[in-house]
Amino acid sequence: MTTRSDAAAGHLQPVIGVSITQFSVIHALMSGLYDGVFPASQVLSAGDFGLGCGHALNGELVFVDGQIFRCTSDGSVSRVDESERVPFAEVSVFAPTLSMPLGGSGPLDRAGFESLVGSLLPSRNLFYAIRVDGDFDRMLVREPIRQHHPFRPLIEVMRAQNESELGRTSGSLIGFWAPSIYQGISVAGFHLHYLDDGRSVGGHSLDYLIASGTLTMQAMSSLTVRLPHTPEFAGADFESIDDDLAIRRVEQSRAPLR
Ligand SMILES: [Zn+2]
Repeated sequence: MTTRSDAAAGHLQPVIGVSITQFSVIHALMSGLYDGVFPASQVLSAGDFGLGCGHALNGELVFVDGQIFRCTSDGSVSRVDESERVPFAEVSVFAPTLSMPLGGSGPLDRAGFESLVGSLLPSRNLFYAIRVDGDFDRMLVREPIRQHHPFRPLIEVMRAQNESELGRTSGSLIGFWAPSIYQGISVAGFHLHYLDDGRSVGGHSLDYLIASGTLTMQAMSSLTVRLPHTPEFAGADFESIDDDLAIRRVEQSRAPLR
């Protein structure tokens, strides 16, 4: 009988020189700043792994193995052209230092997975890149509806988000865990996007059941934040956002403020 930590191969000490680069901040999205600012090629030069959202909230983005995929509200997936500008992205170079099989003692739901990952963290004050490649008994994803000017705040827009229950699927969860003090800059806790192996379905992951798979992770102690050089960003009022509650509703709950 092995314990959970025995099953993990490797360690989670941050490597010098491996960092998260974030383009814009979550507060900017909360405020309705959905226009693309950063060329996808510029984002990719900072990392081959991560997540983001498309121009005008046109889809959730998944950066995997150096390619960018857009999961849109019509349920389709397409490649993102490197010349497209994105309003928000969070990427890193992915060089995992820990690997662990999942599902050996039965399916793992989201709460079980999050508590397992939580038990592996050497510190809750660092950042972690997280990837699960595996078979899922179910996967609930959401994609926002593409917006048009004038943009409304995210919490209003997400009332009409598209949610899809994918059922059985094989693919990858890709994303990050961030300490709670970064809520508003980033998303505190887990933020994972899903893309299936066939690159045909995906989105922001809301809930799932892992049948079997492999968890790979790396720790990071460095965060670079690139802020937009736009009049909209310069003039936005971030101080009036009830950030924690609003962000949790937008990023984590299934039915935000109906
Ligand atoms: Zn997301």
